[in-house]
Amino acid sequence: MRSPTVYCGPMWGGKTEALISRLVRARIQEIPVLAFNPHLNDRYGTRDIRAHSGASFPATPVHSGEEILEVVRREQPQVVGIDEFFMIPSALAAVEYMVHRRIKVVVSTLDLDSEGVIWEGLGQLLAMAEEVVKCPAVCAVCKADAYFTFRKGYAPSERVLVGADEFYEPRCRRCFDQGQEAKRAATGEGSLFDGGS
Ligand SMILES: [Zn+2]
Repeated sequence: MRSPTVYCGPMWGGKTEALISRLVRARIQEIPVLAFNPHLNDRYGTRDIRAHSGASFPATPVHSGEEILEVVRREQPQVVGIDEFFMIPSALAAVEYMVHRRIKVVVSTLDLDSEGVIWEGLGQLLAMAEEVVKCPAVCAVCKADAYFTFRKGYAPSERVLVGADEFYEPRCRRCFDQGQEAKRAATGEGSLFDGGS
């Protein structure tokens, strides 16, 4: 297993599903495996990692990378899965620590926020990764491959909206850009692309 392996992309791209299938495989191989998810993520209750498909895997909810390492030092797993990496502060340092100790790490994470801005630590994680798998969803507008998570115009503007899937939809780049333009027009802000004219 290449380590770290990172499954990334927008919401509804199946990245958590991919993570779970890797963890289940390790469990079948009788390799000691642990999984973690952010304490914040109360979408389905925090004890398990759950995919939109309904697949799940037992996990320990954590507030930080330090908490991941506390459990890892105690339990000595050979494979560690982390869901929603972007929501766990200092998870990057924890991944670095584990890969240097030959612990296989598999990560599922959003790569961009709903403004199309990369999450902190993602650049380093992807550079460190031995395998990166982009998991596109299907554009809610035109059905092309979707690499962006679009925040609908009426949604609150917090960067992380937990358990608020209804405020978002996956979009391809073209439909994402069009949607961003429409939101800017609706709020009276200038366009990014009109050169300020
Ligand atoms: Zn589209």
